[in-house]
Amino acid sequence: VEIIRTIEWMKQTARAARMSGHVIGLVPTMGALHDGHFSLIQAAKQRCSPVIATIFVNPAQFGPAEDLAKYPRSFEADCEALEKRGVDYLFAPTAEQIYPKGFSTYVTVEGLSSRLEGKSRPGHFRGVATIVLKLLEITQPHFAFFGRKDAQQERVIRTMAGDLNLDAEILACPIVREASGLALSSRNAYLSADQNKSALKLSRALLATKKEIEAGERNAVQLIRTVRDVLAGDPGLEVDYAEIVDADTFEPVMHLRLACYVLLAAKVGTTRLIDNALVEQVGEEFQVTV
Ligand code: AMP
Repeated sequence: VEIIRTIEWMKQTARAARMSGHVIGLVPTMGALHDGHFSLIQAAKQRCSPVIATIFVNPAQFGPAEDLAKYPRSFEADCEALEKRGVDYLFAPTAEQIYPKGFSTYVTVEGLSSRLEGKSRPGHFRGVATIVLKLLEITQPHFAFFGRKDAQQERVIRTMAGDLNLDAEILACPIVREASGLALSSRNAYLSADQNKSALKLSRALLATKKEIEAGERNAVQLIRTVRDVLAGDPGLEVDYAEIVDADTFEPVMHLRLACYVLLAAKVGTTRLIDNALVEQVGEEFQVTV
């Protein structure tokens, strides 16, 4: 893997690859890489060459009371892992380069950015949309890969790409979980053994709704009641939201429809975790992917 530290060199490298007819794949990350990230890299490798991974802990998407300073960082190990997986370029710029003095242009995807994650984390999606637009400009990808773990983020980026007529096609990859069911996240590193047990309840709650949906339940209120029942009574877990939303608009639904998400956010100690299940109608049946 060739490590690229400057915007200029990354741009030149990407431009040269494009000019010679290569299909560029982009996998943006904040580092502390795990199998969730590696699944995106694998998807990118299947379609694209070169594959560009980025590691940038983006200050603009963290609130003032959030974990920017202590966000897990493991650059050396990340480089080794990217090398092993055949990633061609790692773009790892400094914050000073990305947000130089006087930086004042931000992208806001209205509506979508003010609900759910956006409501709990004001300014978060503005930071996300801004950095992703910058990374797309710098790396010029044909395809950019994002995880469904951050379903609303993926929707925000897809909306931005459509609204701004961006060239890159946005592709979403399934959630990767531990054998226990816990969705992989760099933030899992913060969890103690006890907190890990509490965190497991998120995927348990989603599996309970899956079972209920497969048994014929279609009512969102009832399904959310089930979710809350699983999450209730654990003093180590504080639910932020549990909602069933349309997968396109992220507006709440009363009954299951063509495609929706069961979305969960909760705090375990000071660690904020999110998880979701995708519900898709296939003929008369609903298929639930946890
Ligand atoms: P992050 O480094 O947390 O900003 O994540 C970088 C990318 O990896 C985002 O597109 C995430 O949605 C994706 N990602 C993170 N965790 C997972 C996971 N468990 N499964 C699939 N994708 C993931």
